[in-house]
Amino acid sequence: MRAISLQDSEVTFRDSAEEPIRRAGEVLVDVSLAGICETDLQLCKGYMGFSGILGHEFVGVARDGLYAGQRVVGEINCVCERCKWCVNGLGNHCPERTVLGILNRDGAFAETLLIPERNLHRVPDSVGNDQAVFTEPLAAALQISKQVDLAGKRVAVLGDGRLGILCAQATRLATESVVAVGKHPEKLARFQRLGIENVLLESLDQQASFDVVVDCTGSPTGLQVACRLVKPRGVLVLKTTVAGEHRMSLASLVINEVTVVGSRCGPFGEALSALEADAIDLSGMVSHRFAIEHGVEAMRIAGLPESFKVLIDPQL
Ligand SMILES: [Zn+2]
Ligand SMILES: [Zn+2]
Repeated sequence: MRAISLQDSEVTFRDSAEEPIRRAGEVLVDVSLAGICETDLQLCKGYMGFSGILGHEFVGVARDGLYAGQRVVGEINCVCERCKWCVNGLGNHCPERTVLGILNRDGAFAETLLIPERNLHRVPDSVGNDQAVFTEPLAAALQISKQVDLAGKRVAVLGDGRLGILCAQATRLATESVVAVGKHPEKLARFQRLGIENVLLESLDQQASFDVVVDCTGSPTGLQVACRLVKPRGVLVLKTTVAGEHRMSLASLVINEVTVVGSRCGPFGEALSALEADAIDLSGMVSHRFAIEHGVEAMRIAGLPESFKVLIDPQL
């Protein structure tokens, strides 16, 4: 089958990658659409040391099992179900886990992927593939309000990219006061169209004036800005992983008694419900679409500042 894989920090198109073989508890899914996210770009810079087929955001059609013939999306953490984390409902932290396209498991930039059946969710009929492919990052955005009580809080979302706009929309479901902070006027215009208050970083009054600051910048410097913006006793939510190191003093976090919350994967069921209810506006999110043969070019384009969501269509 055709696939995009990463080997020794080099991304290549493979015309005859081996198709996965079905095994107990797992099903094959023919991928209809896959999305490129910042994590994929970070993996190419060495984050997690991953090698294999990339991709973890997808919508596809299950080839067999309970959902055979139906459109599905899939949670990306594939867990043991036996350890104390799994037994206590915290499978996302299972030490035995593999993660689709990120850790010891081939991903979605391929014609077909293999995934545990229990990870799958059926896509409601009214949710198109162009929306459903956003389920994974939207679930991650909704996770913020699972971890932090946002009601009545003043929230800043740092980063005007693909994850920032999902996090701003997701947090807006929980509090009225959300301000997006970015460096690109043309990207902030998307927030403006959605009625989300937004401001350029350079013209922002960088006083500690936010109860909660969400870092979606994907940049090591995002945390420094976040530390300046968060109020004493406030909460700093780290939403992006970066391959590089943060080099900064953490003294202000101590002095201001700031709570730091790491935030990763979120609830797929709620994400699909939000899409079904049209609570999240995804119009204008997709900037490019490529056949899988051009997946290497797709990855390059996804890394350009003017790009937004770049999709790969393995069935083209
Ligand atoms: Zn992602
Ligand atoms: Zn486990």
